[in-house]
Amino acid sequence: MTTSDTTAPGTAVLRWPDQPALGGWYTQDEIDAVMQALTDSTDWRTGFRAKTREIAFEDAFAVHAAAPFAIAYNGAGTAMDQVLACLGLRPGDEVISGALNFVGPHLSVLRAGGRLLLAEPSPGGFNLAPDHVAHLLTGRTRAILVTHMNGQVADLRALLDLVERHPHPEHGPARIIVDAARAVGAETEIGPVGRVGWASVFSFQSKKGMTTLGEGGMVTTFDEDLAVRLRRLRSFGKSRLLGSNYKLSKLQAAVGLVQLRRLQEMNDRRIHLAEQRTEHLRTLDIPGMVLPPSIGRAHTHYLYNLLLPENWGAAGRNEVRRLLAARHGVGSLPGERPTPLGHELIARATTGQHLPVAGRTADRALHPCLHPLMSEMENEEITEAIGDAVRTVAATRS
Ligand SMILES: *Cc1c(COP(=O)(O)O)cnc(C)c1O
Repeated sequence: MTTSDTTAPGTAVLRWPDQPALGGWYTQDEIDAVMQALTDSTDWRTGFRAKTREIAFEDAFAVHAAAPFAIAYNGAGTAMDQVLACLGLRPGDEVISGALNFVGPHLSVLRAGGRLLLAEPSPGGFNLAPDHVAHLLTGRTRAILVTHMNGQVADLRALLDLVERHPHPEHGPARIIVDAARAVGAETEIGPVGRVGWASVFSFQSKKGMTTLGEGGMVTTFDEDLAVRLRRLRSFGKSRLLGSNYKLSKLQAAVGLVQLRRLQEMNDRRIHLAEQRTEHLRTLDIPGMVLPPSIGRAHTHYLYNLLLPENWGAAGRNEVRRLLAARHGVGSLPGERPTPLGHELIARATTGQHLPVAGRTADRALHPCLHPLMSEMENEEITEAIGDAVRTVAATRS
């Protein structure tokens, strides 16, 4: 099941791809929902108008996130742009965000005219370190953009405390904006992701924990003014704002309703497999290797996050990847690099910011393929392959 012919490092044919192209999976219920929505749309008077299903999807998502407002968008990228536009940044205003990240949210900061300050990750992790954020906070900080990296929730409580203690002189405490694209269905210690922060942005792109036919997004918030603005902005501004068309379609909303209902089941299977894998890898006892923490739904394992021993560097990590692929047909991803290495405009906007921890963390990161539809036996095969590759590299280095 879920085997694939994707080729990766070297010329090995992979039995498991570097990363699943679909994060969850579809059932007959999604297919029925699409057919129903399609059938309903043949009436020339109403056509594909999204209204009822879009509202039902938003309402269900608001309940899921325990937040009063949920606003559907056609993607997390466009949604993040509009959330940042609503901050009303002025020249010199600053936004702090974790350096190990997807480039998307950082491009949104630049597009909104913000000065981007990058924070180092916590030791042994991927999320931004609150003590480094404290160091970067100034009288010009308007927002902290937190990504729950690879499905593991960041320490929002520490960040909320920080912004309360250092309010902006004119605008008050900096806003916490959450990029929850990789953490749909995850839970923080304060409640579901989506309940905490000024705005939380979700993605339903195919690789994410749930999808709305390949693309889609959602914002949740407690701020009614923000919710109203975001609704106007996605629909050409409703005669007062500089908006455009960022709407989710009727078919996407219909599928989203079903995927949301099935989200917990999909996440729980992913979490179960990840924890099983971690239990096994713990017995390898490789000094310096960091396994993903097993913390229930506070880690949905969007990626299976391994950190190899730091002194192996990128060369050791790459050798593990090569062995996994060549000997065992197991695909894997290297870590997300600090965003200035992934985009020249981010590099230009952040020159002079030194991020040694982020760089070293990226070099040792390894994300072997994980999908909730893997059988326990497949997962065991992959786990043993990881053990073999890691032991082989460890032996050449001692
Ligand atoms: C996928 C992703 C996005 C962008 O989501 P889209 O819906 O594809 O626009 C943003 N941030 C992170 C962390 C992501 O993984």
